Amino acid sequence: MNANQQLKKIAVIAHTSNDYKNRKSRFAQAIERFFYRHKNKLIIIHLSMFIFFMMMMVIPLFTSLPDESSTIWNNLRLLSTFLFWGIWFPLVFASVIFAGRIWCGVLCPMGAASEWANKIGFKRPIPAWLKWEGTPILSFLLVTILGQTLDVRDQNSAMLEIFGGTLILALLIGLLFGRHKRAWCRHACPIGLLLGVFSRLGMVQLAAKIPHAGGDRYAERGTCPTMIDINHKAESRHCIQCFRCVKPTSPGGLFVRFRKPGSEITDIRTHNANIAEVWFMFLGTGVALGGFLWLILPQYQTLRQLVGNWFINHGWYWIGNAGPSWLMSVHPAQNQTYNWLDFIMIIGFMLLCMLFSTIVLATMNAVSSWLAGKFNGDKTFKLRFVELGYQFAPIAMISIIIGLGDQLFQQLKIAGISTSSLEYTKITLFAASIAWSILLGYHILKKQNVSKKGRLIALIPGVLGSVVIAAAWWPAIFGVHFSMLEYYRTHLTVMS
Ligand code: SF4
Ligand code: SF4
Repeated sequence: MNANQQLKKIAVIAHTSNDYKNRKSRFAQAIERFFYRHKNKLIIIHLSMFIFFMMMMVIPLFTSLPDESSTIWNNLRLLSTFLFWGIWFPLVFASVIFAGRIWCGVLCPMGAASEWANKIGFKRPIPAWLKWEGTPILSFLLVTILGQTLDVRDQNSAMLEIFGGTLILALLIGLLFGRHKRAWCRHACPIGLLLGVFSRLGMVQLAAKIPHAGGDRYAERGTCPTMIDINHKAESRHCIQCFRCVKPTSPGGLFVRFRKPGSEITDIRTHNANIAEVWFMFLGTGVALGGFLWLILPQYQTLRQLVGNWFINHGWYWIGNAGPSWLMSVHPAQNQTYNWLDFIMIIGFMLLCMLFSTIVLATMNAVSSWLAGKFNGDKTFKLRFVELGYQFAPIAMISIIIGLGDQLFQQLKIAGISTSSLEYTKITLFAASIAWSILLGYHILKKQNVSKKGRLIALIPGVLGSVVIAAAWWPAIFGVHFSMLEYYRTHLTVMS
């Protein structure tokens, strides 16, 4: 068979592949054509984004500090933190539902810079420590915790340190490892894993025109910058939607497919379920929760007082000294200086919350998996545990968006939207995410062949897990109820 005949044969297989044949959406085809036609212009977008991000991080440092009368319209420091935390962060997360990881493939300047560095770099093999599934989890935890001790949501210098530091690491990893790849994006980016997990909920997927059986494979050779073997692609997680493998007229490669949101999770057993992702959801939800609760819970202040007294009583006065400004927030001009006690307490509290959420979610998930087994659920306990872990994806995602998007809600409030309307919006989003988590859990159990009655019973621990996490987020998202604070103050007064 000559090359032409082979090509024809491939084309026939491709056009009879069910998934590909069922592609009806003209919109999807238009998207493919658009990205294919303009792929050479991506560099302009990356460069513009790079310049814009650098400007928003560096220029505010040379402008005046905000005062009582400052707003985002007359103070560049406030505008910069609002753009990062009020617009960029919630939008990037929400966008994975509607457009997958389009941020990564089309807009992110950090991933593009890492790949550019790779082009001129040493191209050494990617080491095992970088490929380890725990590396992006550690990266996320470190950045989230450092973000709190530096007060990254309010301090522009902290933003520069966190984003600038991760940019330097992305460049370094790009310079050293991989051959025309983005080892940083696949293995180490603190945001990449988060976007990857939540992209599984999304309604857009790039699927193989000629799918090969056997599930996902890691491929250091080939077109894909994130090491996906495109014909074996089964999961959305690592696909940054760079559209390099999409050529509308070709019989091979990937095509744009719209799907029901959450369908990858309900059918997670054919989409490369991964235990590291499940632990990440449990750990990440807790650490993000801790990052908000320490700011608002009066109990945290009491605990801080007690721990501080303990150190002082033992003659360890250094605990009251300010630490280095690259490790904690030291801004005397803004009346904000953390000392070693703050540093230890913030980290300790966040780790405690992480432990709490992990224990709650893992226990509930384990009970669900055990119950599923009792009602004819197939596979082993471990596999059922991994699959059912994904039921918590929507609640984890919404809580992080609402929590981190607090700046957006604050600005909407300033713009005149009433507090109660904003709270109803948050409650609705939160309730919808719990309902979605329950629905996903139900369908995952169905795929595990659990009987109808069994599904309803095995769902209960999962629902309890979601409710406990929602309850824990309550004060972080809606603020501590005034009467509770009042009660607490009265209680302290009585005690003293
Ligand atoms: S994985 Fe991280 S660095 Fe890479 S493109 Fe996505 S957000 Fe940017
Ligand atoms: S699978 Fe295709 S679109 Fe996705 S990251 Fe790889 S090359 Fe880019």
